[in-house]
This record gives sequence, structure tokens and C-alpha cells, in this order.
Amino acid sequence: MGETPPPNAGKIAACWARVRTRLRQEVGDVEYRNWLRQMSLAGVEGDTVLIHLPTRFLRDWVRDHYGDRLRLLCQAEMPGVRLVELRVQAAARAEKPALEQEVAEASPLAESLAPSVPAAAAEPVRNDWLVPLDPRFTFDSFVVGKPNEFAHACARRVAEKPAQAGFNPLFLYGGVGLGKTHLMHAIAWSLRERDPNLSVAYMSAEKFMYRFIAALRSHNTMEFKTQLRSVHVLMVDDLQFLIGKDNTQEEFFHTFNALIDAGKQIIISADKAPNDLSGIEDRLRTRLSGGIVADLHATTYELRLSILQSKASLAGVEVPPRVQELLARKIASNVRDLEGALNRVVAHAKLFGRPVTLESVPEVLSDILRAHDKRLSIDDIQRKVAEHYNIRLTEMASARRSRAVARPRQVAMYLAKQLTSRSLPEIGRRFGNRDHTTVLHAVNKITELMAEDPAFAEDVTLLRKMLEM
Ligand code: ADP
Ligand code: MG
Repeated sequence: MGETPPPNAGKIAACWARVRTRLRQEVGDVEYRNWLRQMSLAGVEGDTVLIHLPTRFLRDWVRDHYGDRLRLLCQAEMPGVRLVELRVQAAARAEKPALEQEVAEASPLAESLAPSVPAAAAEPVRNDWLVPLDPRFTFDSFVVGKPNEFAHACARRVAEKPAQAGFNPLFLYGGVGLGKTHLMHAIAWSLRERDPNLSVAYMSAEKFMYRFIAALRSHNTMEFKTQLRSVHVLMVDDLQFLIGKDNTQEEFFHTFNALIDAGKQIIISADKAPNDLSGIEDRLRTRLSGGIVADLHATTYELRLSILQSKASLAGVEVPPRVQELLARKIASNVRDLEGALNRVVAHAKLFGRPVTLESVPEVLSDILRAHDKRLSIDDIQRKVAEHYNIRLTEMASARRSRAVARPRQVAMYLAKQLTSRSLPEIGRRFGNRDHTTVLHAVNKITELMAEDPAFAEDVTLLRKMLEM
């Protein structure tokens, strides 16, 4: 790699312009303007791209939040590049670095892509809490099934009567792609529809933090506080991102209290229940659990199928029931992946003007299906479960029925059913040639126990998450 002659400066700068454009598309204009615009390309040394940022704060922020993305984009756009190094260089904001100057002169296109010299002052926090809501995320398009019916009912209730005792805050939690953001937007749509004057602020916890820090930087925290406290409904998505961010957490805690005390509705989502969010202060945890906590459970085959039916009916191409069943069976991870697979199948059919058939799907989705099959082997499940309950792997297939081994075995069968596309008889065979009714019994038993015993449910959920990682 060291042998490659250095590409000329103009070429590098053009590549750099493309990297910036792609970053901007990915993170959006506002974020780009506040954090990334101030990057300037200082050069390429060997296989390393050197980038300057004007302050250490910005350098650290960009490295922590965008470092990986930046590296991948540079690797993709700049031949021979492997690493990206971010350096603090105070002069970077005063003058355009030579490389960018050069390309700006050489190519009008690159100029429009290349950044301008950043404004000296930090941008004030603007009153644009009302981020656009996704028009697809409404109650109408949300398919209700066993795993999400409670969360959905809570969301409906809050949408009808915000800030009601017992439902404030509403805390929604669950794994990725299970509908948390969808439900939050649905509540917001519904509230706005009923009362267009109601101010509903929706933001990710990351955005909350980013705005708070931007306010600190520009000495505008008063404005930040006033704006936030003036909303009627505050929604903060993916709260887990505040973990370990002490200042921001503190600020969030105060905002939270002020709003609740003023009778405003708060809606939070996270990947875990308040009690399981480690790294969150106890007093915040207590407040988060003070209203209603609702779990979005992992999807079941039935829910996945209903979601596919609902989405397929809008696809504009016929997706035969057999294909829907195949997808629902094979893509068990979450709704987002399921949607992705359906979209691909539909796009493919439209593009080539061919009908969707059971035969065409495995080919169109070969990579996705392989990834899912690979992740979900019965062996992996047995091994992990045995390890977790501290029993020998051979007990998974043994005839022993003592509770100490039978229960973990049932858990493993349950997880095999949930996480793989194997049929009941296939699963039975892998557990010491047991009958499919034994597997079915195990699945029902574990489902039942999970409903009765939260500690047990948590345990199984944890196992599942570890397996899905
Ligand atoms: P999360 O925020 O929990 O990670 P999202 O709300 O972003 O998940 O959902 C991922 C995708 O799956 C979205 O496109 C969403 O519309 C869709 N989705 C999730 N659950 C459902 C559901 N029950 N019915 C319809 N679509 C759903
Ligand atoms: Mg989300």
C-alpha cells in the first residue's frame, strides 16, 4: 500500500468533497452544519487522511460520533486510504487549507460541494423542536398483535388524553426495529390532528444532548430551558444514549421534573426497562418508572405475518400468501428487517416486471436469508442456554427430566422456535429426538412462565438478546 504513488491533490480534494457530501446526506443539514462543516482536509500521509478541526471539543465530538462513518466513507472514496486522523488545528477556520483552495479553483462542481469557511460564532439554538414526523408512522399503519398490544393501548390512551395520572410518563421499551419510534410518531400525529396548537416536541436523546451542548457552547442554556419547558408534550426517543452523559442527564432530569410538575406529558423510549438501564441515576430511574412502563416484545410469527399482509397490500405488486409466510418464517429478527426484505422483493419485481413468486424470493434475498440462517443455529442456542444455566451441553439432548435440566432445555426449544426457521419436528429431532408435541409444550410452557414471572421473562429476554447480537 505504501508503494502507491500519492494521487494528486486535486483528485484527493474531489474525493474529500464527495465524502463530505455523503456525510451531509447521512446526518442531515443541521447536524452537518454544527459539527462537521468545520472539518478541513489537511492532506494524506501514506494511508492516513489528516483532517483538521478548530477545537479539541469539536475534534473529540466528531471522532466519537462520526469517526467510524468518516473512516468508512474515506476508505470508500479514496483509494489506498485506511485510516483517518483528526487533529486540532486552530488556524483551520481562518483560511481555507491549500488543498481545498486548489480544487475550488479547479472545479466549479467541487466548489459547490466543498464547504465554505464556517461562521465564527456557534449557531444559536433555534426554535425548531418540532421536527418533521414520519408520515408513515401513524396508528392506522401500526399492526397490533400480542407482542405489542399493551404498548399500543398505552400509546392510544396517551394520544387521547395526554398527561393523565397513571400514564405520565409513558415509557416504551424494546429491542430495535420493534415499533417504538413508530408509536411515538403515531401519538404525535394524533395529538396534532386533534389540536394543531398543541406543541409536541419529538427528538432523539442524542439530539437532546447535542442541542444542550450546543446551547452550552453558545451560552444559551436559558433559551434552551425556556423553549423545552414551553412544550405541551415532550418525546425523547432512545434514551439509552444519555447513559454516562452526566451533564446532559442532569439537564434532562430537570426538564423532566419541570414538565411533569407543570402537567405536561412526557413520552420516553429506550432499549431497556428503566430498572435495567445501567448508568442512569437512581432518582431519574425512579421518575422514569413513575407513570406507565410498556414493553414491545419480540415479534411472533403471527404478528410478522399480519404486518406483511398489511404492508404487502400497499405494495402495488401482488405478494402471494406463500411468499409472505416464507418471509415471516425466515426473517424473525425485527419488523425493520422484515420490511426491508419485503421492499426488496417488491422493488425487484417492479424493476424487472416479473411477478413475485416463491421461487424468485430466495434468489432476490439470498444474502439476507443466509445472514438470518447463520445467526440462528440451534447449536448456538443450545450452547448459550446450557452455559447460561450452567448445565452440560449434552443435557439438551438427554432424557433426564429433573427440573434443573428440563427447564433450560425448554427455554432452548422455545428460543429455537422463536429465533430459527426450523419446524417443530426439526427442533424436536435436535433435542434428543423428541416429538414435536414436546417442543410445542415447551414453547407454551415458557410463554406462560414468562407472562407470570417477570424475573424469568427478563432472563429469557436477555438470553435472546445475547443470541441475537
Ligand atoms: P424502533 O424505534 O423500535 O427501533 P421503529 O419504530 O423504527 O422501531 O420500527 C421499525 C420499522 O418497522 C418502521 O418502519 C415501522 O413502521 C415498522 N413497524 C414496527 N412495528 C410495526 C407494527 N406493529 N406495524 C407496522 N409497522 C411496524
Ligand atoms: Mg427508534
